[in-house]
Amino acid sequence: MPIDATRPYDDENVFAKILRDEIPSRRVYEDDYAIAFHDINPQAPTHILVIPRGRYVSWDDFSANGSDAEIAGFVRAVGTVARAAGLVAPGYRLLANTGIDSGQEVPHLHVHLFAGHGLGPLLV
Ligand code: 5GP
Repeated sequence: MPIDATRPYDDENVFAKILRDEIPSRRVYEDDYAIAFHDINPQAPTHILVIPRGRYVSWDDFSANGSDAEIAGFVRAVGTVARAAGLVAPGYRLLANTGIDSGQEVPHLHVHLFAGHGLGPLLV
């Protein structure tokens, strides 16, 4: 069920639980600002999710309310994850669903990092 990006933060959302290590994930990266882990239902040969440690529902919430340090740290973390995975030369795609029309399901900001052969053109 898609979520409304203006809703308040829910500490029981699945990514909050992953952040607290209450449920397992295949973590590939972590620092002071972000963690990254493999998507449980990959839509590409490489499908990693990067999330900020802070309590932000969506891209909108984060861009409006995140501190400059959190925003810079998160953006750098996304780039670091891609670089560490060797994805810069072959290329990759970033996506941040935000709110109902995008189909955002998990109410904690996440950037999808897709890579691998056959990503195809962006259709929307
Ligand atoms: P959204 O539609 O909100 O942009 O994407 C949510 C993503 O989170 C989906 O790609 C979905 O497969 C992934 N996801 C949902 N629950 C879990 C989980 O428990 N663990 C992991 N690793 N990924 C999850």
